[in-house]
Amino acid sequence: MKAAVWYAQRDVRVVEVPEPPKPPKGWVKIKVEWCGICGSDLHEYIAGPIFIPVGTPHPLTGGTAPLTLGHEFSGRIVEVGEGVTNWKTGDKVAPDACQVCWECYSCKRMDYPCCEKLAFTGLHTDGAFAEYVNVPAYTLYKVPDDMPFEIAAVVEPLAVGMHAVRRAPVMAGDNVVIFGGGTIGLSALQSAKAAGAAKVIVVEMAKARKDYAKKLGAYAVLDPTQNDVAAEVHKLTDGLGADVAIECVGSDKTVPVALASVRPRGIVVTAGVFEKDTPIQFNNVTFPEKEIKGSLGYNGEFATVISMLGDGRLDAKTMITGKIKLDDIIGKGFEELVNNKDKNIKIIVSPK
Ligand SMILES: [Zn+2]
Ligand SMILES: [Zn+2]
Repeated sequence: MKAAVWYAQRDVRVVEVPEPPKPPKGWVKIKVEWCGICGSDLHEYIAGPIFIPVGTPHPLTGGTAPLTLGHEFSGRIVEVGEGVTNWKTGDKVAPDACQVCWECYSCKRMDYPCCEKLAFTGLHTDGAFAEYVNVPAYTLYKVPDDMPFEIAAVVEPLAVGMHAVRRAPVMAGDNVVIFGGGTIGLSALQSAKAAGAAKVIVVEMAKARKDYAKKLGAYAVLDPTQNDVAAEVHKLTDGLGADVAIECVGSDKTVPVALASVRPRGIVVTAGVFEKDTPIQFNNVTFPEKEIKGSLGYNGEFATVISMLGDGRLDAKTMITGKIKLDDIIGKGFEELVNNKDKNIKIIVSPK
């Protein structure tokens, strides 16, 4: 079968690879319908390896480069492994990308994104930019018959945005500022609004992303090249500062601005993947008793996202700006996202 395989930085190839074998005990084989290109796939392409194990096999999966990318996907089960009783061939699914040990301290507390052996499908083991992928049955979520596969492929990033909102947590009436109007920023925007946020302000430079932020209900969009963001956030919140800031960029410039944008005892959630260190004057945390919290992936938000896509409180369709074939993933996928960041939110890929 065909797959998009990461070999090294700037070296992702669409090549023939063997189809995954019969799924092992507790696993299923999925025929992939659609798989989204994630910011973290792009990070691996431009600046990797970040998550991808090179040389030393991953402690849980044994995975090591070269490996097949892709973790935001939907498809149907085509084969079930031994001991899988609650899923059957033909089931329509959107899998959680976290593969975990279920034995460590965090797993026993159900804090599985903090698993000491955490692995992501498509980053620490072969993923879904391929016709077929094997995943553990515990990662599966049922997709309703009337939900298109394209929409189901966006459940994963929507869950990332929702998790960041829940990590804060955003409460009814809160003013929220979100750094970044890409897929995760726009997902966090939607979840913050669904959580009852009063004003959600988005900070973004790219033209198309500003428009999408407005379309999805941002109260205001601030361009950091034209505004003093922290001052502007204060102006928009009656001089108080936002209750919550969510960083979805991963820039070394944004966290100090996010800190300056929130009120005393305000909360900054970092959901970006950072390539560089950020210098922070921690008196700006100590004196106003602010909090900084990390947010990685999700913690079971898939079912909630699927149900809120169903009742219209979340919108995946607006965020899909491109549908391409696996053969075109380099040119019309990765390179397109690198060169035309301004035009794109989510590009999804079909292996057919
Ligand atoms: Zn992702
Ligand atoms: Zn664990």
